[in-house]
Amino acid sequence: MTIAERILNGDTLTPQEAYTLFVDETVDTMTLVHEAYQLRKHYYGHKVKLNMILNAKSGICPEDCGYCGQSREMKNKQRYALIPENQITEGAKVAAENEIGTYCIVMSGRGPSDKEVEHITNSVKHIKAEHPQLKICACLGLANDAQAAKLKEAGVDRYNHNLNTSEHYHDEVVTTHTYQDRVDTIETMKAHNISPCSGVICGMGESNQDIVDMAFALKKIDADSIPVNFLHPIKGTKFGDMAQLTPMRCLRILALFRLINPSKEIRIAGGREVNLRSLQATALMVANSIFVGDYLITGGQPNQLDYDMIQDLGYEIDYGEAPTAVTNG
Ligand code: SF4
Repeated sequence: MTIAERILNGDTLTPQEAYTLFVDETVDTMTLVHEAYQLRKHYYGHKVKLNMILNAKSGICPEDCGYCGQSREMKNKQRYALIPENQITEGAKVAAENEIGTYCIVMSGRGPSDKEVEHITNSVKHIKAEHPQLKICACLGLANDAQAAKLKEAGVDRYNHNLNTSEHYHDEVVTTHTYQDRVDTIETMKAHNISPCSGVICGMGESNQDIVDMAFALKKIDADSIPVNFLHPIKGTKFGDMAQLTPMRCLRILALFRLINPSKEIRIAGGREVNLRSLQATALMVANSIFVGDYLITGGQPNQLDYDMIQDLGYEIDYGEAPTAVTNG
């Protein structure tokens, strides 16, 4: 029986099995991709989910995340406070016109003030009135119970808060908040029936074991949506000179995440174009979701190239059902 058949029959890989598969150089990367593809095909057929990011507040962040061009260590030019509501709603219109399923409103910072949450919730109510089919994902940082309740009431479907890396490697990436802070925010959102979106950034100096641990940590918190970012090094950041990734390693990571989280929305997120390069289409045979347009402070490829890739693969855009909220881990 193949690995995919085993998993489709309800079996799960053990952490040791997953690690062995991931590091065993006699297991060809395309063999892993093929196994992962069977799972992607089973759960998502030929569908691809599209997401679009709005960078609603940029820079000026007191945190010290080593990958981020918006941290306090950086003097990036894209520094602005929370943009007006009409610009947030205008971004939603652009998303709707571009066949986007989920509009992701992202704010830099440790976490939102109550005033900022009110600003976002007012915007979301307007968006939901005008584009009821458009799913809203908020990514506002560490958030508390009362803020989660307000986001839910306004119609926020999903909340993104990445684990980013393994628990073991976390303190190498950021020192101003803990791994547990991140887990707590995800659990808070789940408690309010907001669909949890949580993922990782690979290529920050983590080990193979860290990558396997991340995939299992996301399984444990039961993230509905898993963005897998590949580090796009930004000069001046802690990891600005890191060059750990190859297109084949990115494929291997995506395949591992699919084998461990077979039914979840796995998104090729930031760094897709620069790290996967000509293998982006192959990666979409494992993942079932991408961002269209620019990332937070790095550019994506022209939208049309993404639509062409989807068409060339014989895939079609999936507007999707409302993300299913998960209430326990
Ligand atoms: S990732 Fe978020 S919290 Fe960390 S430095 Fe960047 S903006 Fe701040």
